[in-house]
Amino acid sequence: MIAIGFTQIYRQGAGLLDRLGETSAMFGRKPLVVTDSFGRAAFGARVDAALTTAGLSPEFFEHSGEVSPQAIEAVVAAARDKACDFAMGLGGGKILDLSKAVKLLLGLPVVVVPTVASNDAPTSRVIVTYNPDGTFIGPRFLDRNPDAVFVDTEVIAKAPVRFLIAGMGDALATHFEARQCLASGAQNFFAGRPTQTALALAELCYNLVRRHGEAAVQAVRAQMVNDDLERIVEANVLLSGLGFEGCGVAGAHAVSQGFTLIPELHGRLHGEEVAVGLLAQLVLEGRDQAFMADMFGFYRRVGLPASLADLGLAKPTPAQLETIAAFACRPKSRMYNMAVPVSVERTQAALARVEELAAATL
Ligand SMILES: [Zn+2]
Repeated sequence: MIAIGFTQIYRQGAGLLDRLGETSAMFGRKPLVVTDSFGRAAFGARVDAALTTAGLSPEFFEHSGEVSPQAIEAVVAAARDKACDFAMGLGGGKILDLSKAVKLLLGLPVVVVPTVASNDAPTSRVIVTYNPDGTFIGPRFLDRNPDAVFVDTEVIAKAPVRFLIAGMGDALATHFEARQCLASGAQNFFAGRPTQTALALAELCYNLVRRHGEAAVQAVRAQMVNDDLERIVEANVLLSGLGFEGCGVAGAHAVSQGFTLIPELHGRLHGEEVAVGLLAQLVLEGRDQAFMADMFGFYRRVGLPASLADLGLAKPTPAQLETIAAFACRPKSRMYNMAVPVSVERTQAALARVEELAAATL
């Protein structure tokens, strides 16, 4: 069986935040707007005005920190206590995942409004949960994708460029993980094999990042919306999300989850971790020198971290690399979606090789 899932409505463009009322009214009258203190301060008044003008009565819920079981309990209690009829996530990946918990546990629609394009969470039915200390717990799954995703590209253009760059790291991995899943016969996130549609989306995602990545970074540095930025937001948010979910993930994501065990690496963005995980995956795949040099060159040009050293672990010890590799290769890991042999030893060696290659391309 092949399978794919979609978010029902995707809208992207400059100024969408001010139209959230008209675009969200079909989902209910009383949204629980899930955000963090930054999102509330930066966009709260605008979102409140856009929603109330359209006759909606928003309630705000603020959370900072991890999507922990405790945070999930709190957001669901807020939605229930305030009698909200849909959820709206306004923020980065963790806030969006938290807003999805309202759909997961109360069955209410969720409208996802990313304020950064740093990862592939928005369109996805996956909620990634962590302990309050940042260590990884695992995914939880909605039965369907978020109902709507609305991205205001003006907001993305004004966010720190680090977020857009991280999102490109997550987006770059989609195609390579898809090819591994296809070759190994792995299942995607809908318990099916990848459709040709999803494979095409993943490949388009990669091509858009390579073609428009550098120019989009320049656009955000100038806080400007242009066509390059629009393409990269579509790649980072829509294509990367539909692509990873419809094809499956493999080494890049599995390796990046191991980073959460190293305290020095805490606080990095998901896409930054996946970017380095992807390089380890490509070494495991046995990619040749020219291919690796081309990838490292692109990473350097757009400013993606290309090693654990770049992520903040200056001289990783063999023991640290083994810890990461062992977690990546734990039983039932997505690592086993790879179509090449994987083991703790091979993964540890691949991580060490990435450090060497990165040092050589500085
Ligand atoms: Zn991801």
